[in-house]
Amino acid sequence: MTQSSPPRHAVVIGGSLAGLLAAAVLADHATVTIIDADPLPEGPAPRRGLPQARHTHLLWSGGARAIEEILPGITQDWTAAGAIRRSLPTDLVTKTAQGWIPRCGEKQFNISCSRDLLDSVVRARVTALEGVSTLQQSRVRALEGTASRVVGVRVDTPQEEDRLVRADLVVDASGRGSRARTWLQALGVTGIRQAEVDSGLVYATRIFEAPGGAHEMGFPIVNVQSDPRVPVPGQTATIVPIENGQWQATLSGTRGGQPTGDPEQFIPFAKGIRDPIVGELLEGRRPLTDVAVTQGTANRRVYFEKAALPDGFFAVGDSVATFNPLYGQGMTVAAQGLLAVRTLLRASDPARPGFGREAQRAITPLVGIAWELATSQDILYPGATGMKPRAGSGLLNAYTGRLMTGATTHEALTAALFKVLTMSSAPTHWLRPSVVWHVLRASDRGALDAPPLSDAERAVAGLGRGAGPVGPADPVGPADPVGPADPVGRAR
Ligand SMILES: Cc1cc2nc3c(=O)[nH]c(=O)nc-3n(C[C@H](O)[C@H](O)[C@H](O)COP(=O)(O)OP(=O)(O)OC[C@H]3O[C@@H](n4cnc5c(N)ncnc54)[C@H](O)[C@@H]3O)c2cc1C
Repeated sequence: MTQSSPPRHAVVIGGSLAGLLAAAVLADHATVTIIDADPLPEGPAPRRGLPQARHTHLLWSGGARAIEEILPGITQDWTAAGAIRRSLPTDLVTKTAQGWIPRCGEKQFNISCSRDLLDSVVRARVTALEGVSTLQQSRVRALEGTASRVVGVRVDTPQEEDRLVRADLVVDASGRGSRARTWLQALGVTGIRQAEVDSGLVYATRIFEAPGGAHEMGFPIVNVQSDPRVPVPGQTATIVPIENGQWQATLSGTRGGQPTGDPEQFIPFAKGIRDPIVGELLEGRRPLTDVAVTQGTANRRVYFEKAALPDGFFAVGDSVATFNPLYGQGMTVAAQGLLAVRTLLRASDPARPGFGREAQRAITPLVGIAWELATSQDILYPGATGMKPRAGSGLLNAYTGRLMTGATTHEALTAALFKVLTMSSAPTHWLRPSVVWHVLRASDRGALDAPPLSDAERAVAGLGRGAGPVGPADPVGPADPVGPADPVGRAR
């Protein structure tokens, strides 16, 4: 806490990832009360307020680095708790719309584990910070204040209904179901616009026991993506090896091609998409859970920054924007946004008039980038609703497509792809002269025509031998003696 200013108190609505990170960045400047409608468990455990935790949650390197800056040592804490730090694309078998990506040396990384584990480690760190306390099983029902200043929240706690908790700053991190827009309207704030782009995506997830030896050998993430250029529903399948030797398998489908909760249909769905590898890997594995299904995964954005927000308030995380979960952006956008708020806090008192609006504006560019990336693809799927593709978006999509084609054969473009995908750089990285130079020469000549799993990985998973090397850098050894320059068996 700074010496010069009087003690400040901040309230954070929501104790999930965005709320915890908000509390962490505020803790140097104020005492913080995190209010959550749920009891917040000691360790990794499911909870009602986080239903999406049943699904695959990938934390990209762009987000992991931001959280590491806010909570130094967190990556070590995650891995000590069982999470796996994976090199990308070395530990990834992925078929993009343009083809299989070779498993060359590390360009970026991700953290793989269940969402419950990821949150529990962050929660343990943040709730141990001096001046941070929690008000659990307590639901915020309204903001207290006027259209020009928020001075607290009204909360239903287990002991008291409609209790007033005063604060110099209120941060809304109550997620995709946030009622902040309604609460602000009740104070007289007008003009908070909202946009939505919905491809009708449905998510279905089931956890399986991994085959013996898979965890020890560092079995890769396996993922088959859809191709938005083809006018059919987009369907995907992914296996993420997580803690405790488990495989978390997630299917997704847009309108007209959605997965269901029927366990009998889970593996056939995975086998029926652009490549059957995920279904083949799951065949015969012991399921450890039912199939969890989530609908309502639309991209939704609330333009808080364009409204005349009262002093003493800003919003962060899914409360501001939700993205098609397939792109894995939500946690990273929240973390990077809060890092930007931390920079502001170093030069500013959080109770100062205008601070909330500045914080909201600091978050906006990060939200905007993720929004453009997600919605420009989603709007291409049949039956997608919400907006028309922007003028010029065809050209941009053609350029991106060419870059992604090059990423199947050229390591410099693979690096460029992962730099943006993991939100380690803004998409403007793709317009750097060195990248453009490679994009103009991009070709799929020599691209892999089968999933780049090594013989050892195929053997552990009970599959037959593969058709060729796993990639130009071939980090796990060629499956048979066909060299990278040898086109045999590799044409698409
Ligand atoms: C199916 C699915 C898969 C996803 N996969 C990924 C992924 O791979 N990678 C990624 O980065 N992101 C992913 N996301 C997005 C990610 O889940 C969110 O971005 C992330 O949880 C951060 O959200 P948040 O903290 O803002 O809100 P949430 O995590 O939704 O948390 C909101 C919190 O607020 C509490 N709350 C709500 N209302 C009140 C109230 N009135 N009073 C008090 N407390 C309240 C809730 O109990 C909850 O704890 C996925 C989302 C979905 C739906």
